Amino acid sequence: MADITIFPQLEIPETIAAGPGPGNTDPRVLQRFASAGVADHMQADVLRGMIESKIMLREIMGTGNIHTFGVAGTGWSGLDTMFSAVMPGDKVVVFTNGTFSGIDGLTVRMKAATAEELAANSLDPKPASVTIVDVPHGESVTGEIVEAALAKHKPKWAAMAHWETGSGRINDLRGFSDACEKHGVMGLIDAVSSLGVEDFRIDDFPGVHGWASCPQKGICCLPLTYAPVSFTDQYIQSLRASGTRTFAAHPILEARHWGIIDGKDVEKGTYHRTHSAYAVAAFHEALRILLQETLAQRAKDYAFHEAALREAVTAMGCKVTSNMTSLVVLNLPEKLAGREAELVQSCRAAGFGIWPTLSEPVQVRIGILNLLTQPAITEIVTRFGAAMNEMGADIDMSEITALLSRHFDRAMAAE
Ligand SMILES: *Cc1c(COP(=O)(O)O)cnc(C)c1O
Repeated sequence: MADITIFPQLEIPETIAAGPGPGNTDPRVLQRFASAGVADHMQADVLRGMIESKIMLREIMGTGNIHTFGVAGTGWSGLDTMFSAVMPGDKVVVFTNGTFSGIDGLTVRMKAATAEELAANSLDPKPASVTIVDVPHGESVTGEIVEAALAKHKPKWAAMAHWETGSGRINDLRGFSDACEKHGVMGLIDAVSSLGVEDFRIDDFPGVHGWASCPQKGICCLPLTYAPVSFTDQYIQSLRASGTRTFAAHPILEARHWGIIDGKDVEKGTYHRTHSAYAVAAFHEALRILLQETLAQRAKDYAFHEAALREAVTAMGCKVTSNMTSLVVLNLPEKLAGREAELVQSCRAAGFGIWPTLSEPVQVRIGILNLLTQPAITEIVTRFGAAMNEMGADIDMSEITALLSRHFDRAMAAE
């Protein structure tokens, strides 16, 4: 037998996942994941778990859309499914203001490109039918920007990220939906980092016809299970008329396993592709936890803890440029400017998982997904301060922790 290498068992340490995502998974989710029995994807309880998840997902997303279900995989799997209705030659306007909406724009350009346009530059096509409206890093897409572009171009589709995780900016979903409605455009929203963090109902935004999120951010289910998606009947009609060239990511076909057939809920799903009992059990539990805590309470908790973190890093001399409630994006104080990557690397090497921005300019990103407690926020602030001090920031950390305690005491007093 030839020499083969068998590596030792893989050990992965516990770290503080204090980035833009994935978030920290609740022990209850991991327990359900590990407690599921071996069962195939047509076993009755697995199918029941999918039906129940679908119903809970409609509640969490705030929608009566029949086509609401999970797509196996990550955020991009859900987004690819949502964008699959965009066909070559379709007129689309995409609003980009950072890394993720930039990739949404690339996805749309790949789908809308004609065969010739795709072959001309296959990894970065520039189809004539797609308009990219680029808003600078650190700024939000406003309703006025959307209104002006849709009035001018009159596309079939418009796409935007609800929360742009690259720069931590919230975009104007209300303005986007209103402009789509006014101009008869079908809106598509990347809600990967807002679902489960902000309290909103998708049915309150009638200009939006397709939504896609992910399992591991606001839903807090790192065993990568299902990316929530939801589509209006109008979207499904358009897709049924045009067709699309995918089987696995086909919104109408994928929905069948979740018991959605011919636009109706049926008692049990039919085979589309294999599902894992472990994934279904974990996803189901994550949705139960979210409904038990309630979206309203979670949104409040994020806003409160983000404010605590923001106040602390601002007192440490950093400048916060984000407005999301699950993530703080900041510039280091003048004296440490240009050393962001170095600081992030040293934190990460010590198991404190913060992030830099993935596109220019280089900034630091600190996330609090499922880290909504006083001890967790205090540890993040303490470790971040210690790392800055190691680089010579000279911050009095006792002052900062006292400030944090006061933030939490005020909340206790208010209750
Ligand atoms: C994280 C993120 C994505 C990508 O999600 P994956 O789960 O990494 O596939 C897309 N869009 C936004 C806005 C995100 O925050």
